[in-house]
Amino acid sequence: MGFQSLDVWRVPEVRGRLDWYFRVAVNEMPAKYLVCRRVEAPPDFREMGEDELWRLHEKLSESFHKLLEQVKKGSLELAELPAFRDSFLSVKVELVKRMVRHCNFCRWNCRVDRSNPTKLGTCQLDTTSRVSTYFHHRGEELPIRAPREAEQYSSHHATCAASSASTHTQ
Ligand code: SF4
Repeated sequence: MGFQSLDVWRVPEVRGRLDWYFRVAVNEMPAKYLVCRRVEAPPDFREMGEDELWRLHEKLSESFHKLLEQVKKGSLELAELPAFRDSFLSVKVELVKRMVRHCNFCRWNCRVDRSNPTKLGTCQLDTTSRVSTYFHHRGEELPIRAPREAEQYSSHHATCAASSASTHTQ
């Protein structure tokens, strides 16, 4: 049985609430990270301070939402637009790198520098990803599912929402 013919999609409320998920899963719509890559960032954004970067993020976010609306309406084909090396997605990655130096990824708000392993927060994580298990996994959400394997990361703290077990397919 194919994904599209699962019984759950015959429930109007589920179909309505998960409309975007469904359309990405069946390749009717692109995943949002692909839209992010079509919003160009200025070449000097890595030299910006964090506050300035957040302002840039806000500005690019507006462009992203305009683009997304056009894609949703079908008035724009994403494949016809260039994917930029420095994009809205790159700005997000840069912000994560900055935030990890005063980590506030979850409600513990430890403000520790996880890139400096002399002091760690509640989750006891630095910036290293440790693989605890590696297995065949077919239950991941379709937009991020690949047909092969999955690994699960460890060293997370049960009370830390941001660092709880995450599964990544490749
Ligand atoms: S518990 Fe970990 S992820 Fe959460 S704020 Fe502290 S250091 Fe960051």
